[in-house]
Amino acid sequence: MRRILIRGGRLIDPAQKIDSKLDILIEDGKVAAVLASSANLVRMADEVIEAEGQVVCPGFIDIHMHEDPVGADGRIEQCIFPAMLRMGVTTVLAGNCGENLYDPAAYLDLADRDGLAVNVAMMAGHSSFRKAAGAVNKYAKADAKQVEVMKSNLQTALEAGCMGISFGLRYVPGTTTEEFLEAASVAARAGGRLISAHVRDDAANVFDSVAEFARAGERYDLPLQISHIGSMGGFGQMEQLLRQIDAYRGNGMDIAADCYPYYAFSTSIGASTYDDGWMERYGCTYDAVEMCEGKYKGQRCTEEMFREMRRDHPSALTVCRVMRAKDIHLAYRSPGVMVGSDGLISKGQGHPRAAGTFPRFLAEFVRNEGLVSLYDAVYKMSAFPAQRMGLKKKGSLAAGCDADLVIFDPENVHDRSTFEEPMLPPAGIARVLIGGETALMGQTVVNDRLGRAVRYGQG
Ligand SMILES: [Zn+2]
Repeated sequence: MRRILIRGGRLIDPAQKIDSKLDILIEDGKVAAVLASSANLVRMADEVIEAEGQVVCPGFIDIHMHEDPVGADGRIEQCIFPAMLRMGVTTVLAGNCGENLYDPAAYLDLADRDGLAVNVAMMAGHSSFRKAAGAVNKYAKADAKQVEVMKSNLQTALEAGCMGISFGLRYVPGTTTEEFLEAASVAARAGGRLISAHVRDDAANVFDSVAEFARAGERYDLPLQISHIGSMGGFGQMEQLLRQIDAYRGNGMDIAADCYPYYAFSTSIGASTYDDGWMERYGCTYDAVEMCEGKYKGQRCTEEMFREMRRDHPSALTVCRVMRAKDIHLAYRSPGVMVGSDGLISKGQGHPRAAGTFPRFLAEFVRNEGLVSLYDAVYKMSAFPAQRMGLKKKGSLAAGCDADLVIFDPENVHDRSTFEEPMLPPAGIARVLIGGETALMGQTVVNDRLGRAVRYGQG
């Protein structure tokens, strides 16, 4: 039997309402005991980790991210998963916003075969299944036959261990509310699985969009997750939006949301986000947009620059600084909102949230702004998402749970990724264990194959 003892740290485990200086004993990859004193165990331990001055808590769970692709060699390319590990994340939920890069059940099998940097659970993405059923035009209605094929394949994916169904209604405007409800019925019949949505529209239209999503909660008894609420209602709508969601919850609906801790989103200048009316929608002017690529790299746009780049270089990446800090703060102070990165990396490029979210939340929102206590922050990054995903052995350090945990320096932890260098690793994450094995030490990934598939009902 292999025994690891972690001593002297501040153990924060909101699932058990623990926040004390305690030691923890790990045996064969599981938590064996939480101890007030462990001096008598030091000699029998195979490894002793001194955690004086550090926080010891369940590994973070990212309930909203986007997976790495499968390469031509049939293996999952690891790019975002190691970035997740460096942030202290040990389990992720991928396949969000309706999109899968690969058959999600087969993806879980690949994760088990080869191992990944973090444990991976999957959502079955409605948009991907819709397309696979032959409804390739995202602006057109799916016909009855296509809906039946889609439902049958979604059911198979849920039976194979996908956690639930994600929707990206924003990206597939041809999806009618009826089609959405039909797809959601599959999650309901499979035992009340989680459904998540990038809802149909944002800003002033977010209220109707969330109401549409909530119809699944009214019709079926299943958990609902509103994805990246900050980029849906972070333009002056947050107070009213949280009131709307709390009212649903007050009437018995199981509904929550996730949020990434940034005031800017990132997209290409040719994206439909910048179609006519965008400045009215977000209440901003051209100078909210910063160019990340091309000859104006690092500059705020003028109308001339914006038009030129959109016409000549539509794929050039931009950062749009339009979310209101006050709205993001309101979201995080809500007990119904957890942390989720929405991380997405394509060929090493993307928004810095993929490599910065969790340390940034701890640095900016907990330590600097004091908006959320450290205990509540850990809850929003461990027990809360675990409960949403129905995980019983993760998100807690109770005896018998998987020894997935993170040790970090609460005074120093911070993100370093930027829009210019989105993959820069954070600082202050001292150690990450997955299944009782060291995956990360200091800034160094020492084992990027400890993660496995997490299937519904088995995690
Ligand atoms: Zn999304």
